Amino acid sequence: MGFKINTIRNDFPILSTKVNGKQLVYFDNGATTHKPLQVIDRVSDYYKTENSNVHRASYNLSHIATDLYENSRKFVAKFINANSYREIIFTKGTTESVNLVASGFSDLITEGDEVIITVMEHHSNFVPWQQLCKKNKATLRFLPVLKDGTIDLSELEDMINFKTKLISITHISNVLGTINPVKKISEIAHNNGIPVFVDGAQAIAHTNVDVSDIDCDFYCFSGHKAYGPMGIGVLYGKEEWLNKLSPYQYGGEMISSVNFESTIFNELPYKFEAGTPNVAGALGMEASLRYIQDIGMDNIIKYEDTLLKYATKKLENIKGLRIIGNAKSKIPVISINIEGLHPFDIGTLLDQMGIAIRTGNHCAQPLMEALKLPGTLRVSLALYNTKDEIDLFADALAKAVDMLT
Ligand code: PLP
Repeated sequence: MGFKINTIRNDFPILSTKVNGKQLVYFDNGATTHKPLQVIDRVSDYYKTENSNVHRASYNLSHIATDLYENSRKFVAKFINANSYREIIFTKGTTESVNLVASGFSDLITEGDEVIITVMEHHSNFVPWQQLCKKNKATLRFLPVLKDGTIDLSELEDMINFKTKLISITHISNVLGTINPVKKISEIAHNNGIPVFVDGAQAIAHTNVDVSDIDCDFYCFSGHKAYGPMGIGVLYGKEEWLNKLSPYQYGGEMISSVNFESTIFNELPYKFEAGTPNVAGALGMEASLRYIQDIGMDNIIKYEDTLLKYATKKLENIKGLRIIGNAKSKIPVISINIEGLHPFDIGTLLDQMGIAIRTGNHCAQPLMEALKLPGTLRVSLALYNTKDEIDLFADALAKAVDMLT
């Protein structure tokens, strides 16, 4: 399909929405992306012609739904280069994936053990580990973030010791845009016999994800941040690790057999999928990943990098503006601080000008505390954004700053 911006924009009906009488400029893709017709139609077609519960019945429609659902799993496995469909668990999203693994590790982490995360984690990859460590009297340790928004791998090596039981890190920061060297981190961790969990929420739509190459033990993402539906996501885990973890929830689907005394759990991946799954969501997510694949991730990376460079340059001219996070390797997420102004006030004015941009702590309060900022304005771009929209935004931002100073 290649990269044809006008064709791409036409795929997303919501982009023609007007806000306050102005053409919508949507720059909050880090929170969620919009959905192309290919995804909307896939979900709608499922409910129109294929809807049925999966894995349960002997009738034709149920077989069709089951095959579609399982084919989505196989597609995801291939998309992220997992070894087997057994390593792909469908979840509600990143948050549920982290909680699932943290719940499983509750049996494996005991008093005196240590878990390492970074200061730049989203609350989803922060609170589950914090609560697990509190409950089990383990210690949660934080790898600092340097001034440019990167981490120092030698500092990580210094933090690792015989008590370290897990390292959990975001692939890409939702605030700083930094792409973390997760492959190198896995190598360091594995040299010390430590498993690695990677939060790929911000990565799946913006970079190639190859879990075999990264060699992480767990990887997760949400469909809705990659042009797919809400309420569906993925947890990838190496079979060896998934087999060690207890089920996260109990009920139908996750059992092999039940009697009055005990239960034998189902095999992977079903052991972690209790209850009726989000079949339409899985099919919609498959459609979104196919959409990305058809355009080509390398084309997306190239295009988004042009947008990042263009926006960064444009913003330099705005009075009192500082960009938080200047890693060499980053996606088009630009966090902005404007001296003397509260991000919320600017965000409100921008909204009146039709520009949807995120303000606040971006579910990363510890990072804000470390940066000594109340919050930032965050521009997070996607494959359907354009230089024209960046121009509109830069003009609107300059105007808002003038109005507030
Ligand atoms: N991790 C990161 C880095 C994120 O940016 C987000 C959402 O913004 C999450 C986790 C949580 O994702 P979800 O709300 O889809 O579970």
